[in-house]
Amino acid sequence: MSAAPEPTTPAPAPLRVGFIGLGHMGSGMARNLLAAGYDLVVHDIRRDAAAELEAGGAVWAETPALAGAGRDVMLTSLPAPPHVEQVLLGPAGLLSGMAPGAVWADMSTSVPSVAAKVREQAGPRGIEVLDAPVSGMAAGAAAGTLAIYVGGSAAVLERVRPVFEVIGDPSRIVHCGAHGAGYTVKLMLNLLWFAELVVTTEVLAIGTEAGVDLATLRRALMASPSTSNFLERDVLYVLERGDYDEGFTLALACKDLGLAVDLARAVGVPAEASALVEQTYRRARAQYGDNGGEMLPMKLIEDLTGHPLRL
Ligand code: NAD
Repeated sequence: MSAAPEPTTPAPAPLRVGFIGLGHMGSGMARNLLAAGYDLVVHDIRRDAAAELEAGGAVWAETPALAGAGRDVMLTSLPAPPHVEQVLLGPAGLLSGMAPGAVWADMSTSVPSVAAKVREQAGPRGIEVLDAPVSGMAAGAAAGTLAIYVGGSAAVLERVRPVFEVIGDPSRIVHCGAHGAGYTVKLMLNLLWFAELVVTTEVLAIGTEAGVDLATLRRALMASPSTSNFLERDVLYVLERGDYDEGFTLALACKDLGLAVDLARAVGVPAEASALVEQTYRRARAQYGDNGGEMLPMKLIEDLTGHPLRL
């Protein structure tokens, strides 16, 4: 007589996912979810933004509410807080389409106040909310190696983690604290990176104008206590290729810096240096336009000295 088969626990059904905001970041994240086999619904105000994803098996939804219907997890990657509010709470808004038990995770760089408004309506309906902004540039979104900064319930994060692990590097999914902590961490790390860009550019320009070879100056700085990730890695976009990273626009960089300086004001911390960095970015935006790349403040100084910083 053969032994009775071992009782098996059925595997949990894969999460049904929706994605709204298929721009520089969202398109890469959505592509990776499709490639990982997720059942994916997509939406954007630009209908053509979904073409490639639909060809890969994603289903188009005509409105945010329709995108949310029947989905377990809804992700958004939208430009700024007003767009997030519009998509969630506007006409045919996402929240109105979502079912009890579903989760909305916002991967936009936004602010806690908008998500708090959404939570007021989501809570009584049993819909969970996480802030989950990301870093790693458009290249990281395409490669599935983003860092994700999560604010909200740790238990809800665990439910969504399999989805995040497709979009991001599993070792860089950071639970930052309660609702809003993810947005705050993201604004602070961007502020630091933009500040490093501005100051590093000044240092490289001063040093080379004073006669030191650029490669030597960079190598010496990297061997010093003043080294940084920016100097070792990100600055090479410009130094090696003259690429000012159009994957992240000056309009969005100025949005992030404005939100960071607003936050400093709200919590009563003087932020003189941060305000100067914001002004430098606003000058670059006025000079090179909304769609210029986030590293163009380097070109402000290059234009001034007449010497592009190139290895
Ligand atoms: P993007 O402008 O390229 O993409 C935003 C997308 O949202 C666009 O496709 C746009 O059509 C869509 N959209 C705007 N309003 C909408 C609406 N009402 N309904 C539906 N869709 C709408 O921006 P991005 O560079 O992909 O950035 C998205 C978010 O990620 C921003 O908050 C940004 O600050 C953040 N971020 C960007 C980068 C980067 O390197 N690009 C890195 C980290 C974080």
